[in-house]
This record gives sequence, C-alpha cells and structure tokens, in this order.
Amino acid sequence: MKIIDKNHTEDWQHALSMAVRRLPELLKILELNPDSIKAFDPNTNEFPLLVPHSFIARMRKGDPKDPLFLQILPQIKEKSYVPGFNRNPLLETDFSKHGVVQKYAGRALLITTEACPIHCRYCFRRHFPYSNQLASKQNWSKAITALKVKDDITEVILSGGDPLSLSNRRLAKLISHIESLVTVTTLRIHTRFPIILPERIDTELLELLSRTSLKTVLVVHSNHANEINEAVSSSMQKLTSSGTHLLNQSVILKGINDNVHQLEELSRSLFRCGVLPYYLNLLDPVEGSAHFNVDAKRAEQLIAELRHRLPGYLVPRLVREVPGELSKKIIA
Ligand code: SF4
Repeated sequence: MKIIDKNHTEDWQHALSMAVRRLPELLKILELNPDSIKAFDPNTNEFPLLVPHSFIARMRKGDPKDPLFLQILPQIKEKSYVPGFNRNPLLETDFSKHGVVQKYAGRALLITTEACPIHCRYCFRRHFPYSNQLASKQNWSKAITALKVKDDITEVILSGGDPLSLSNRRLAKLISHIESLVTVTTLRIHTRFPIILPERIDTELLELLSRTSLKTVLVVHSNHANEINEAVSSSMQKLTSSGTHLLNQSVILKGINDNVHQLEELSRSLFRCGVLPYYLNLLDPVEGSAHFNVDAKRAEQLIAELRHRLPGYLVPRLVREVPGELSKKIIA
C-alpha cells in the first residue's frame, strides 16, 4: 500500500490493524500450551495485549521463556499487590499541563498520543490518564502556546504512547509548529516503531526528517538483540541517511536482559546498525510490573562487567528516574 491521502491506509497501519490482541491466538502461533502458561487475557483490561505479527516472528516457537514473548505476556503475577509499585510512579501528572511535561531545564516533552505499536508489560505509562493529558488536543494549539511562553526551551521531545503512531500528515503539522518556536533547535523523538514495526520508517517520514530545520535525534527502545533483524537494521540505516542521530534506551528486565552476555550482544547489535546505547533504565515501579524488577546493585555489577567487555561508547549509562529531580539519576 502507498500513502496517498488521509483516507488511505499505509503499510504500517495495515500491519498494526492485523496485530494480535488475544492471548489464545498468540499462544497458538507460538505453539505454546495454554495450560502451562500462567497468564491472563486482558482483553477488557485497560492495558490489553497488543503485538504485531512481524515481532512475533522474531520469538522462538515453543519457548515460554523467550525474551521477546516475556515482554508482552500478561502474567498472572501482574495482579499481585507489591508495596512500592503504584499507578503513577513518576508523578508525571504533577508536571504536565496541556500534554506538555516540563521536568528538566531547557527541554519540554509532549505527550503526543496514547497509541503504541506494542504493549510492553513493564511500561511506566501503562496506567497514565492519557485522555486528559494529550498535547494533540485542539490541533496542538494549547501545547504550542504553552511552549511559546517559555524562552528557555531548546529541545522538544516527542513522547507518548509512541509519537510515530501519528500519521505523517499530523507529524508534519506538529513539526512545523515546533520549527516556529524561536529558541528550539532540536527535535527528539522517543519511539519503539523502528524496532517493532520498521516499515513505519517510510519515504514520507524520512523526507519529513531530512527537510526539517531542526536537529533530529531518535531514541529507539530495544531491550534484546533478538529484536534486531534485517528489516530493523535497514530502517536504522535509512534514518541515519536522513541525518537523524540514533540512540537506544533499554530497561533492565528480569529474565529478559539481566545478564552480561545479553547486554553485550544488544550493544554490539545496535552499533552494527548505527545506534549508540545511551541509557539502561532501572524499572520504574509501576503497578503490575514488579516481576521484571532487577535491583540496582545487580544492575551496577552488570555495567561493571560490560566495561570489561566493550569500549566505553558501547556501555550505556545506568539510570533511574526519580520523581521531582531535575534530571535522571546516573547510577553507573
Ligand atoms: S510507551 Fe513505549 S514502552 Fe510503553 S507500551 Fe508504548 S511502546 Fe511500550
């Protein structure tokens, strides 16, 4: 399919419309016995299952411990109460107005959309009240007006959900608003699309990124080397050719990437396709995600081991988000 106008569906939108949303279907594709998987089908839950077929194709069939499968599996453990884990772990709603979150000096973050190409069970915004917090309301006008009155913003960060869920037409409009802000020089986009659904990096998007007068930085989000296949690598190369700087941030997740071999392989795979490892985040304590938690001491050890194996530029910084702090806290 080709982008023609807003009434036509693009390839990536079609792929997303065909994504798996029911647990029995997912288990059937992966040839897993439902009786051996301690999971629930959150179809009516506020954070339903969502995973595109091309991502499922990167999972190992018959393996209930596959690291990509575990990221999206709604495990029964999500329902247990764990002290310290809550629905608003970063107190973001305290810092947000008209979809603009301003916590850090010189930078402002826009909550552009609630839509994502996948639902990651550890997501810190899985309970976020998007309906009152979207910058896209009234065609961005309130958010842009809120940014205009600040004269210290040099970088605007597009977040979500996933900002590349917006159509190219809507993104173009938003970028042109941001270009009109006189102090802003840099546009940063936080997205999982190039990893999850690389066909999202289409010609129109690449033209948009090459055309803008802003410096562009794309922070992708990959947690495991198995996520990176040829299609992902090719999308990264196209992004680099458009003049976009590529960084990665991961979350350290128990049973998925909490060992030095996996982290090393992830850094090397990212670098092979032109992406620098930037942050390794400790899990934000969001309700329903405690089973992914890796304690800070263990994560620090892993970073120390990585330093023995990799050049410094391939070792991500281990960070933790602390509500109310002026920047992320660097742990190692
Ligand atoms: S916002 Fe990012 S981490 Fe959260 S569910 Fe969407 S893609 Fe996953």
